[in-house]
Amino acid sequence: MTNTLILAVLVMAIIIAVRYLAVSGAFAWATARRGVIAGPADPKKRRVQISNEIRWSLISAVIYAIPAGLALESWRSLGWTQLMTSIDTPLQAAWFPLSILVYLFLHDTWFYWTHRWMHQPWLFKAAHAVHHASRPPTAWAAMSFHPWEAISGAVLIPALMFLIPIHVGALAVVMLIATIMGVTNHMGWEMFPKAWVDGWFGRHMISASHHEAHHRHYNCNYGLYFRFWDKVCGTDRGLANWSRQA
Ligand SMILES: [Zn+2]
Ligand SMILES: [Zn+2]
Repeated sequence: MTNTLILAVLVMAIIIAVRYLAVSGAFAWATARRGVIAGPADPKKRRVQISNEIRWSLISAVIYAIPAGLALESWRSLGWTQLMTSIDTPLQAAWFPLSILVYLFLHDTWFYWTHRWMHQPWLFKAAHAVHHASRPPTAWAAMSFHPWEAISGAVLIPALMFLIPIHVGALAVVMLIATIMGVTNHMGWEMFPKAWVDGWFGRHMISASHHEAHHRHYNCNYGLYFRFWDKVCGTDRGLANWSRQA
């Protein structure tokens, strides 16, 4: 068990690191192709910031791999998780899309409250200053967290896998959304059409325009996927205008 657990953690670390490099690399490339300069305007500062973002993100990949590997091995060897590999009833079919929403909402809730907590002055420097050292962030900042913050971000989805049934396909959708939004919310430009951002989608969902304002002002826009908690708690400051790119 110990050996297979170590192997599972190692495999997860490689998968998470490669996924980070591939997705952040792809969006950093798309950013450059668009002619947008994400990160500090000074090229030397930008290079230093990006190398720091990559270093912290790769350390985070190893931290994320520990609970993920543990959950994977519990599922594979012991059958302890609530992961499903087949859909046998109409109820299970209906649960597939619903479980995606439930996981995203709980992840968003966890993120909002732990994120707000980490903005308390006594905790900010120790746990969250690394992420805010990206001023403004780039696509490489997706997992640029201090290890304390990485631990808080790593535990929730593996823990939910033990508590709330989800099909592996639905979990893959959740991970895909988490990965893409983590990268694109930091990349320095809005990828969704203006009509979407100004419409229903932008009023309820978080995209780069919303998270950019968090990186500028610190004390607002704490959410991850939805603007729900920010609106309920009065911390929503609206969307960044992208004059920086003009
Ligand atoms: Zn951020
Ligand atoms: Zn923050």
